[in-house]
Amino acid sequence: MTKYIVGVDVGGTSTKFGVFTPEGEKLTHWKISTDTDDDARHFPARIASSIEKRLLDEGIAKEERLGVGVGVPGFIDETAGIVHNAVNIGWHDYPLQATLAEALDIPVFINNDANLAAAGEYWQGAGKKEASTLFITLGTGVGGGMIINGNLVTGPRGTAGEIGHTLVVPHGRLCTCGREGCLEEYVAAKGLRRSLHDHLRNDDGPSPLHENSEAIDIYKAAEAGDALATRIVDEAAYYLAYALANAATIVNPEKIVIGGGVSAAGQTLLQPVVAHFKRLVLKEADRHLAFEFARLGNDAGIYGGAWLALRRLGR
Ligand SMILES: [Zn+2]
Repeated sequence: MTKYIVGVDVGGTSTKFGVFTPEGEKLTHWKISTDTDDDARHFPARIASSIEKRLLDEGIAKEERLGVGVGVPGFIDETAGIVHNAVNIGWHDYPLQATLAEALDIPVFINNDANLAAAGEYWQGAGKKEASTLFITLGTGVGGGMIINGNLVTGPRGTAGEIGHTLVVPHGRLCTCGREGCLEEYVAAKGLRRSLHDHLRNDDGPSPLHENSEAIDIYKAAEAGDALATRIVDEAAYYLAYALANAATIVNPEKIVIGGGVSAAGQTLLQPVVAHFKRLVLKEADRHLAFEFARLGNDAGIYGGAWLALRRLGR
């Protein structure tokens, strides 16, 4: 009998689902809008009924259902099964695992969404077959996760892998976490726009960029050779390389996988990052190390959810 596993990726606006075989083959996937009304208290029931309905539609019987793995944007205590804080969803100290397990009557496991995107890439994407993978996602902000010797590292409050909140500038820009100089304030969409505003105030000469330019405009201008844009991208690349060099020295991964919306900037981003990284990293940590872009796109989280459930079930 074939067994199936469900991966769920809860996002601020939509929630994605996928049904997988233990070998990582995706049978079906779908999404629903995330219901954050009343601090998302009614949403777990909708997640459960959506899974139930699809498994019925696919003809997957009760005894063929192994379990569910769920990624949530926020700080998660996986062992206790509690979402400590998911600001964009509304859950605070919320017992998500128990609530879903009761509604579905199969084992449920939860973790941070960036951790599960890392796990998905490690399982079926860019990190495939590598024992240790460092994953960084560049969207509006910066997320990350790491698999070391085949194990997802989380920590008791789920802060492991939060590379966006590693410090890169002493007494630097104020971050949403309340500290100064976090990587997130210098790279990804948010950081690039802050850098642009700083440079525009300094009047660095003529440029097609203005107050309302987005990160992708900055990359495009850099690609076209604009001096201001090139400077902003190179600064961001330097800080990103700085944080990655420290992380790589500590973790000694075989692969660094870059994902998220900003990674669409491709080689305009990767080339300066790798160049700075080569100069900054401990030489021994750079042997057997490769950079790669994420391959699973928006599906990384559902793959990671399935992987988590399989792993925790000992398969
Ligand atoms: Zn921070």
